[in-house]
Amino acid sequence: MAEILGVKLNQFLAKYTHRKDGELRLNERLDHACAMLSSDNAYCMVHAARPQQCRTYPFWDEILVNEFVWVLEQRTCPGINKGRIYTEQEILKINRDEEQASGYENIPGNQTNGKTSFSGEDQL
Ligand code: SF4
Repeated sequence: MAEILGVKLNQFLAKYTHRKDGELRLNERLDHACAMLSSDNAYCMVHAARPQQCRTYPFWDEILVNEFVWVLEQRTCPGINKGRIYTEQEILKINRDEEQASGYENIPGNQTNGKTSFSGEDQL
């Protein structure tokens, strides 16, 4: 992310991150949007290096738990149900690839449920 923004790592860490509960987190703007969101809210400034949770959103277990929760999530993400339809296999692959990249693979229960397809605007 620092490289994409053209700043040194220590500058990036100081300006855009903080620690909470022992985890390094991206800062939020005053309006609570992610600090990596462009000032016009149009795009992610670090899209190619965005965190795993951004790469897999909205295909998180807690959102895919049932259709009611999926519909509720639309309140916070207007892109849900506006992109192309992702098959269950594509969703599983997205999450599997990211889990493997983070060393999180093969943990029981870390799989999407039996939903067959969901639509998400191109994941931020
Ligand atoms: S994709 Fe992730 S890192 Fe980029 S602006 Fe959205 S929340 Fe922030």
